[in-house]
Amino acid sequence: MTEMELDYRAYCNYCPGFCCYRLEGSTLYLDAVDINRLARHFNISDGEARRRFIEGRNTFKVRSDGSCIFLLKGKSYQRCGVHAARPRQCREFPYDQPCPYLHRQDLLAKIFPKVKADLAVN
Ligand code: SF4
Ligand code: SF4
Repeated sequence: MTEMELDYRAYCNYCPGFCCYRLEGSTLYLDAVDINRLARHFNISDGEARRRFIEGRNTFKVRSDGSCIFLLKGKSYQRCGVHAARPRQCREFPYDQPCPYLHRQDLLAKIFPKVKADLAVN
């Protein structure tokens, strides 16, 4: 089986969540609806949500390693800390298309061996 024959969405189960990092060439944009959803989630005003979470006009602040400030990272997992209130772009990505990050050989090389190993035992 080649990597192109796999259901690309299956990769999310193995991927360290590149889409939750600010990588070169990618930006997570939030609109007013996204900010309001987050504000309601934290029971704060939209203005307060902007102050706390938004950098510039419309993107999330990130940590020094480039990860979204809402990404929860454990030893063996990473997950969204605001899953129910995550922005539209996070909900829809990768839009039923092959994930664009998986065309990046440097990133793909990190996860494809895990996919193949799992398929081999199932
Ligand atoms: S959408 Fe792409 S980058 Fe995000 S977790 Fe899935 S495979 Fe990884
Ligand atoms: S809001 Fe959640 S899904 Fe979206 S980038 Fe941040 S951690 Fe990832």
